[in-house]
Amino acid sequence: GPVRRRPVRRAFVRSTDAARARRAELRIGIPRVLNHYMVAPFLRTYLESLGIGSRNIVFSDASSEDLWRESGKYGSVDPCFPAKVTLAHLHQLLHAKQARRPLDAIWFPCITHTASFLSHILGSSTCPVLAGTPKVARAAFTKERDRFAAAGVAFIDRALNFELPALLRKQLFETWGERLGITEDENDWACEQGRAAMAACNQDLQARGRALLDQALRDNRLVLLMLGRPYHDDPGVNHEVLEEFQALGYPVLSLRAIPKDPAWLEPLFRDDLRSGRIADVFDIRDVWPENYSVNSAQKVWAAKFAARHSHVVVLDLSSFKCGQDAPTYGLIDKILATSRTPFLTLHDLDANKPGGSIKIRVRTFAYALERYWERLASGGGEEVAVPRHTAGG
Ligand code: SF4
Repeated sequence: GPVRRRPVRRAFVRSTDAARARRAELRIGIPRVLNHYMVAPFLRTYLESLGIGSRNIVFSDASSEDLWRESGKYGSVDPCFPAKVTLAHLHQLLHAKQARRPLDAIWFPCITHTASFLSHILGSSTCPVLAGTPKVARAAFTKERDRFAAAGVAFIDRALNFELPALLRKQLFETWGERLGITEDENDWACEQGRAAMAACNQDLQARGRALLDQALRDNRLVLLMLGRPYHDDPGVNHEVLEEFQALGYPVLSLRAIPKDPAWLEPLFRDDLRSGRIADVFDIRDVWPENYSVNSAQKVWAAKFAARHSHVVVLDLSSFKCGQDAPTYGLIDKILATSRTPFLTLHDLDANKPGGSIKIRVRTFAYALERYWERLASGGGEEVAVPRHTAGG
């Protein structure tokens, strides 16, 4: 029969004073890697809402050549660089950060799904390499001896699903309930605070993105959209290519900062909406029906956005050995070629920073963009060659 629900009023159940006092002393490390570039506001706010002091939530530093050099010794398998470099971050947490003041735990959840703004998608799964990396890291740090136990640090890698809020609440309570001595009410409340922090962060980024795009239209300037995964924001993973473009005067927009207001996006997608090719502005079934992988699907949508915006050009980043990006290369190439959108692809970004060659590629592309924009402004139209540069890392 149908489930009958009735509202119940009861008092909020709090944990004991002793448990709260213990939480105030705990220190928790979080590696600054992978999809933490997306969900960090949630993780931090969740812990803070439960009474962990903000100074006791310790993130590793951004990736760098030094960080990587100091701790490349743990590797047991050889995946893409964003997954490999996580071991260096754990090393830093276990040594440099631990030496300053001991950590009680390192939290590196297996993130299996993330929420998506897209519609009509087959799923919101993360890359299996990404989701499994905490388990690989656990193996790497315990294969000869348990380095976490030796440092007196609990390693917490339980799975989290950010697509389904009820499941996420349950998973978080199973992860932290006993460890932190919290009640289920406190856990649920902290989850809500985490979700609110994520929403506020997204809104803030989108407001800045909108201001950037509005300004570009007013000044008749180009904006560079970084088409990449959340962790391609890490300067050690993108080899500071974004800074190179900014130094040349190009404002950089991230995928997350593209405004997601349907009313603002509607004029860009109007023809497709009217012709029925798409059901709404976040529908990508017209170009990629097999859209189960969350970050890949968002990259494809962002390419569609860039293709429809007159002042956006694209920097397409991808890491060496990325099996998730490979199926989208051709798609993104076709979308941008059809719309005559200039783009630079830097695929195969790896551990070694090819500093000189990246500089040359950036400057060559920037020069071509400048010429292209000038010729368009002087009425060159379809005759003007569109800069499309493709290169390995
Ligand atoms: S999506 Fe690609 S770069 Fe990211 S973890 Fe998976 S394989 Fe590595």
